[in-house]
Amino acid sequence: MTARILVVDDLLPNVKLLEARLSAEYFDVLTATSGAEAMRLCEHDHCDLVLLDVMMPDMDGFETCRRLKANPATAHIPVMMVTALDEAADRIKGLEAGADDFLTKPIDEVALLARVRSLTRLKVVLDELRSRASAVAVLGVAGALPNVADDIGLGGRVLLVDDKLDSVERLAITLASAHYLTIERRPEDALLRTVRDDYDLVIVSLGLQDYDALRLCGQLRSLERTRQLPILLIAGHDDKARILRGLDIGVNDYVNRPIDRTELLTRVATQVRRKRYSDSLREQLRTSIEMAVVDSLTGLNNRRYLESHLKALMTNAASRGKPLSMMIVDLDHFKSVNDTFGHDVGDEVLRGFASRVKKVIRAGDVMCRLGGEEFIIVLPETNIEIAELVAERVRSAVGHSAFPVERGTRTLSITVSIGIADRGGDSDPGTLFKRADLALYRSKRGGRNMVSAHAA
Ligand code: GH3
Ligand code: MG
Ligand code: MG
Repeated sequence: MTARILVVDDLLPNVKLLEARLSAEYFDVLTATSGAEAMRLCEHDHCDLVLLDVMMPDMDGFETCRRLKANPATAHIPVMMVTALDEAADRIKGLEAGADDFLTKPIDEVALLARVRSLTRLKVVLDELRSRASAVAVLGVAGALPNVADDIGLGGRVLLVDDKLDSVERLAITLASAHYLTIERRPEDALLRTVRDDYDLVIVSLGLQDYDALRLCGQLRSLERTRQLPILLIAGHDDKARILRGLDIGVNDYVNRPIDRTELLTRVATQVRRKRYSDSLREQLRTSIEMAVVDSLTGLNNRRYLESHLKALMTNAASRGKPLSMMIVDLDHFKSVNDTFGHDVGDEVLRGFASRVKKVIRAGDVMCRLGGEEFIIVLPETNIEIAELVAERVRSAVGHSAFPVERGTRTLSITVSIGIADRGGDSDPGTLFKRADLALYRSKRGGRNMVSAHAA
């Protein structure tokens, strides 16, 4: 996977150096020598990542970062600050400005690649989630997207996999001060744990004694359940080649021994924050898709669902030469239920109605709330004679006993009128619906609480 990276530094030799290194890894590189130019490029060109020098005349890196993050057109682009000194104060300033990661000059080859790959990979995932979420938002049901800056990345569920006692003890003191830490000293059990429990990050020591740490990373990446789980390696200084190998497999970040407490905590917090952010995007996507096709009162599918699925059901039936029937069910004199007992009681009846009917239809039948007190049931592989039997079952399930309402303090007798039709030789949803609706009209006119079939 390649990505387009913008390198920003006021000194041309620095720009050239980074450009050469990144080009050698087949990244597409853009360059800028001032904050203003960087902002212009980010807004008008496609950019997957910005490497931003902190010390620049006019507008420094912090200010540039702040402005990029404040502009809705550029806020989603990850920014990595390049600092001359490994100053804790600079990091805090960078975090406050909204930076996503840090690199220290002189720039270490492995560190550069690790962080660039991790951020560009993350951006691809987030871009995809964001575009799906905004596609769903068009349907008018999604809430605001979560804001990653609202999370400081503390209190993560972290699994540490390390089989050396002294190393575990030192790491645990640091990690447990900020996160919910679980320690696994048997690497062969770590995979099972991640599949069984929920974690925000797995930290794996590259120096496991009797187990190949990279094998564990590969397994984590290959399982559906753990594919999105961030991995951070604890590496020794001579582990360069294996770190690079780990990055190929999909490791997200690493920290070198001897461990710098602040660096470890910052990197862990970043991974935890990212994991929670992508989880919340995913969760939001799931609920908005659900909201888009599910009626919130009854939990049934809604009209939008029916509209998008009926055509496929009918085409499928036509191509296989199978029958298909439709039933429209309308509650009788429902307006008077609302008028007499109030809207809440009406809602209770609608919920009770839906659950009674669901019990007497097959799992493969598609029941939708069309709106108000009108429901549709699509019955695949069902001819009109069978549909009539099912409709009688539905009518009787509703009418045979009164509905308890207001926590059982009162009961209401409810009846339904039903119209049914089969697809005949046709595969047009509109025609089928019209026929079932005509049949429903006959039931209403015929005195209600009855089933009518459309005469073919
Ligand atoms: P008919 O037997 O001819 O079908 O008479 P009806 O009163 O059932 O039909 P009408 O279409 O005149 O009224 C439907 C009523 O359904 C109007 C409204 O008060 C009620 N209704 C529609 N949606 C809801 C809802 O979500 N909750 C509640 N409680 N009532 C609803
Ligand atoms: Mg009605
Ligand atoms: Mg009605």
